Amino acid sequence: MDKVKNEIIACSKCRNGSLVIAKDFAAGFFLCKKCGHVNTVSTQVYDEEVLEKLPHTGFLVSVNNPSEIYALRPGVNVIGVGEMADVVLKRVTHDGKCFISRQHCTITVSFGKWNGQLSYLLEDGAADPTGGRKASLNHTFYKGKKVEQQDALYVGNQDLINLGGEDAYRLEHYIIPAGTLENYKISQRVEDGGTD
Ligand SMILES: [Zn+2]
Repeated sequence: MDKVKNEIIACSKCRNGSLVIAKDFAAGFFLCKKCGHVNTVSTQVYDEEVLEKLPHTGFLVSVNNPSEIYALRPGVNVIGVGEMADVVLKRVTHDGKCFISRQHCTITVSFGKWNGQLSYLLEDGAADPTGGRKASLNHTFYKGKKVEQQDALYVGNQDLINLGGEDAYRLEHYIIPAGTLENYKISQRVEDGGTD
């Protein structure tokens, strides 16, 4: 017997997560609970080993100085001007002041096994060792709005992220080519344990 696990899947239109159950996989689609968008699903998934074959997994590019290009890696990227950040930005000052915190925001790069593409989740500040979060001093802005402490927002390709109000960075996704993905198709279906 084939089994498929229930899973939270982000709507391809509004990114809201819906619980998708075996029945939905069998039907080949689910309706987004928030916006009603019809999302197609299948038991076909992509192996995240494809990540090892990619030339890069996205960049942040300074808008004011496009020669400043910062590579993002799969998983958690803490962005800031401090040495402890995963992505250490060049310190920029405005009238002698820097508005970017040492650990200003976090971008988590995840591989979507259903669509075979990368997603980029933005949060303000960074996780601290005690399990809480430390906010940036001057806030992170996306689409002209302040990213609140409880927010985790998917950032679109070529969208701008503003750190502290004065300095914007463009997020460049890496789009995994269909030809590359073709070699990493696997079936989500797993055997039910029996040997017969
Ligand atoms: Zn939706």
